[in-house]
Amino acid sequence: MKSPAVIGILGGTFNPLHLGHLRMAEELADAIGLEQVRFMPAAHPPHRAEPEVSSAHRVAMVQLGIAGNPRFVLDTRELERSGHSYTIDSLISLRAELGEQVSLCWLLGSDAFLGLSSWHRWQELLEYCHLIVAYRPGPAEIHADLSPELRSLLGKRQTHDTARLHQKPAGHIYLQDITALDISATHIRATLEQGLSVRYLLPDNVLAYINQHKLYRDNG
Ligand code: ATP
Repeated sequence: MKSPAVIGILGGTFNPLHLGHLRMAEELADAIGLEQVRFMPAAHPPHRAEPEVSSAHRVAMVQLGIAGNPRFVLDTRELERSGHSYTIDSLISLRAELGEQVSLCWLLGSDAFLGLSSWHRWQELLEYCHLIVAYRPGPAEIHADLSPELRSLLGKRQTHDTARLHQKPAGHIYLQDITALDISATHIRATLEQGLSVRYLLPDNVLAYINQHKLYRDNG
């Protein structure tokens, strides 16, 4: 089968998947013209404490949430590796699988982008992909909060032209405004722990799964 020419990847803990993730992926797919967005759950997030629900549950919730969207697919490669889920390793593995010509677009919120220089081998990421940064609501005012090294990287690599993301397989940074949905998994988990409703923050089938398996309840 012919590989899609421009692929988006959304990595995350998805603990749980919510409408902020889905809407961000959908808007970026439209804005850039992505044929596919791969939702890639992380096994051992290097930057945070271990999620309290199993990766099997997180995968199941991603599967439910993306069902019915023909552009969205699940990619479990980070769960099939042992050790930390480093983005650079996922990109190297995707390149080996899909070839040098495919344009890979790593999608991330501006909060995640601001922490980019703490990522493993971050300076090599743009050799393998473009970085697509969605403005995320909240205090992360991207330009004001940029570290000098990220400001310099943005100065060298930013493009305002989505056509460039199709012409080259990697190397650019593109910033996109999206509908601000101030939804976070942290808030969803905290709300569930208090026994309150999280309806309309995530897909109904994901909520049904959470209820069925009694996830994120105070007493498990
Ligand atoms: P947590 O609250 O547990 O930190 P999260 O809601 O930030 O989780 P992640 O799975 O860590 O979700 O996020 C994966 C990616 O999706 C990150 O790049 C993050 O910036 C982005 N993202 C998460 N929520 C939103 C949102 N509401 N709008 C835009 N981007 C988002």
